[in-house]
Formats: sequence, C-alpha cells, structure tokens
Amino acid sequence: MMTNQSNSGEGNHNTGTAGEQGNPADRYPSPPFPKQPQEIPGKESDLVPRADHGEKTYRGSGRLTGKKAIITGSDSGIGKAVAIAFAREGADVLISYLADMEDEDAEDTAAYIREAGQQAVLLKGDISREQHCQHIIETAVSEFGTIDILVNNAAFQMSRKTLQDISADEWQKTFAVNIHSMFYLCKAAVPHMRPGSSIINTTSVNAYEPNATLLPYAATKAAIQNFSANLSQILLEQRKGIRVNAVAPGPIWTPLIPSTIPEHEHFGENTPFKRPGQPAEVATAYVFLASDEANYVSGATLPVTGGRITI
Ligand code: NAD
Ligand code: MG
Repeated sequence: MMTNQSNSGEGNHNTGTAGEQGNPADRYPSPPFPKQPQEIPGKESDLVPRADHGEKTYRGSGRLTGKKAIITGSDSGIGKAVAIAFAREGADVLISYLADMEDEDAEDTAAYIREAGQQAVLLKGDISREQHCQHIIETAVSEFGTIDILVNNAAFQMSRKTLQDISADEWQKTFAVNIHSMFYLCKAAVPHMRPGSSIINTTSVNAYEPNATLLPYAATKAAIQNFSANLSQILLEQRKGIRVNAVAPGPIWTPLIPSTIPEHEHFGENTPFKRPGQPAEVATAYVFLASDEANYVSGATLPVTGGRITI
C-alpha cells in the first residue's frame, strides 16, 4: 500500500506535502495550477507540479509474486503508478503506450520496474487497431509465457463545448481507443489466462456523472462499466476463473489533463477534497483487484474519486 507520505516536493517526481497521518485532502497540491497546455497525448515529464506515482512511497509485500501483467497506457499517469506498484509486488509488466513523444515517460516507468527486480517489456502502438492488440498479447505470451493480469487503462478524450464541435471521426476514434480496444485485447488475452487471473478496466466518475464537455468519452466510460460487468459473468459462468472488475477514478493529475482540458488550472476543485488525486492514490485499487485478496470480487467497479459520490 502507499505508506509513508514523507515526500516533500523536492526531487524529480513527488509532490506530496504532508506526513503519513493527517487529513487526506491536504496531502497533495490543490488548484490553481499553472496554465500548461500540452500536445496530445502529453508528457508526464512536463507536468507542473510533477505527479506522484508512488516512486518514493509504494512498498510492496509480495501480493503479486510471479504474476505477468499487461498495462495499457502505463508510460504515464495512472498506468505508470499501477506498473510501479505491480512491479514492487513482484509482477513483470508489459508497458503499452501510444507515441514517440512518450518514449521518455515509458523508459522511466521501465526503469522503476527493473529497479524492483522485475522484467519490463515496452511496446509502442495504437490499440484502436485489432492487429496491434493481438501483437500486444502475442508479445506478452512470448516474453512471459502467460498472462495473469490485463489492465485496460489507455484512453482518449477531447473537450468540446457543443455537439456540433464533435466530428464523426473524433466520435469514432474515442470509441475505438477506449472500448473497441478492450474487446480486442480481452478476446486475444483470455485464451492465455489461467484460473485465478484478473482483468481490470479503467472507467471514470464520468460513467456516473457525465461531464457535458466530454460527451463521447463519458459514453465510452459508461460502456466500459457495462462491458466489465458482463464479461465478468461470461468468464465466471464458463468456469474460466478469470475475474473482471473496473476502477472509476475521479479527477487525477496526469498528462491527459493539460493535453485535453483547457481549464486545467482548476482541475479537481469539483471534489469534496477540492484537489485532484495523484496516480499513486489510485494504483492501490488495482493492486487489490489484481491480488488474491479480491478472490470473491468480480463484476465490480471500485470508485476512487476524492469523495465524489457514485451511488
Ligand atoms: P495518461 O495520458 O497518463 O495515460 C493514458 C495513456 O493512454 C497515454 O499515456 C497513452 O500512451 C495511452 N494511449 C492513448 N491513446 C492510445 C492509443 N490509441 N493506443 C495506445 N495507447 C494509447 O492519462 P491517465 O489520466 O493516467 O489515463 C489513464 C486512464 O484513466 C484512462 O482510461 C482515463 O480515461 C482514466 N481516467 C483518468 C482520469 C483523470 O482525471 N486523469 C479520471 C478518470 C479516468
Ligand atoms: Mg502518456
């Protein structure tokens, strides 16, 4: 679990501000943040303040020893924090990401995985293409021999003020990246997953409370939740022994935000915490769902929203 929040903001990565105890709302930076538009898909290394992926704080306890994981979008943001946590719990990780501009972020994630004594495999490419999704699964099988954990985490979004501002291409791209890829990856992965394996899909608080500027994205996030619950039933009823769950983050400080949300200076103000979460604060939910501690949990969505309500 993320313990010992003693990071003080110095160094490359951590921005935490408080001690181990205390009000969780006060542990990390609050808005306003500097205006910092980024080119899509954004770079973690350009974020101001830098995000906390648990680099200095996450301590493993052997909860995923010997497991083999694929995490899409794990060069940066939530996926990066999940990759670091999984590696420190004893898992090897395939890092899937999109663009050349993210090479540095992906190499940085890989360095933390290797520092934890685990294998890191980097694979760049567009998961909206079924062929690339099949390539990801084939690579994981040839490198690792099996797949125990599939985290479908990569996504695309764009803020638009009106319906007319959304092009048909953008609508289709959002669905292709966010939900079609999940079908392609799950379909290709399941034949290689043994009983006891786990699929975890990243949805969003937008599945419950859709933001009016994120129409296509919010619709894909609702679809992901339905897909996850349904696939869970299929795989358990077929006695495949593969659990499927989702995590619904609230606003989290990642490169997705300055690259796609014009008003990012005030990001996270709309939570009871009055601040965005950090990737490290979400990663622990994925560790739980991937581990045997969640043996009886399938078809669920775990909200990590800074107090925003999802009932
Ligand atoms: P991020 O930009 O750090 O991570 C997303 C990653 O997806 C990128 O690094 C990119 O490499 C990858 N990606 C995008 N398009 C791709 C494509 N076509 N092919 C392959 N990879 C592609 O941002 P993040 O905020 O950590 O996002 C991770 C997940 O969390 C997403 O599913 C997002 O919807 C979800 N989420 C984020 C927030 C938030 O506030 N940041 C809130 C709720 C849900
Ligand atoms: Mg990235």
